[in-house]
Amino acid sequence: MARYTDASCRLCRREGQKLFLKGTRCYTDKCAVARRSQAPGQHGAKKKKLSEYGLQLREKQKAKVFYGVLESQFRKYFEMASNKKGITGENLLQILELRLDNIVYRMGLGTSRAEARQIVRHGHIAVNGKKVNIPSYLVSKEDVVSIRESSLNDEKFKLIMEQTAGRNVPAWLDFNADKKQATVVELPKREDIDLPVQEHLIVELYSK
Ligand code: SF4
Repeated sequence: MARYTDASCRLCRREGQKLFLKGTRCYTDKCAVARRSQAPGQHGAKKKKLSEYGLQLREKQKAKVFYGVLESQFRKYFEMASNKKGITGENLLQILELRLDNIVYRMGLGTSRAEARQIVRHGHIAVNGKKVNIPSYLVSKEDVVSIRESSLNDEKFKLIMEQTAGRNVPAWLDFNADKKQATVVELPKREDIDLPVQEHLIVELYSK
């Protein structure tokens, strides 16, 4: 499956913001954005004034990189969001947030979304007791996400959870750290989502 192959820190530097793509390193002073905020490349230091289209494009790129989603899938999520009741931009973020790899990350079972994606792909995760190895699987309200019994005592999860111990699990997930399981008690609202993006610009871009 196609994925972003550019160095993660370059992607953050391109957006001029921390997008937390590298796990624990993102919270240290080794973070490339903290050390050098200019965009990568020879002309990165020059501040360019972006056109309206440029601004919209950057916001879309930021959201795609944050969740590790490629264009075709992102476009599909936008179509789903516009067909739902409510504000399209907020619906879009809610859909992205309900991806199984994101929920595993939110539970602290992956230091980054990339690691969480790999954990799902390797078959360690169950939804409502059944193995699901599709990172893009969309979880619904009241679903229970857990580590499969066969992986519960895997030393790897102990180590990951030690590294993610300081991270808050969002209130829309009822998380049981001992059982390593979370129930989606409500759907995430905009204020629950920490993505530094102006989603209305993404809606404007796709509505042209
Ligand atoms: Fe982005 Fe993390 Fe790299 Fe910092 S360390 S630039 S937040 S991926």
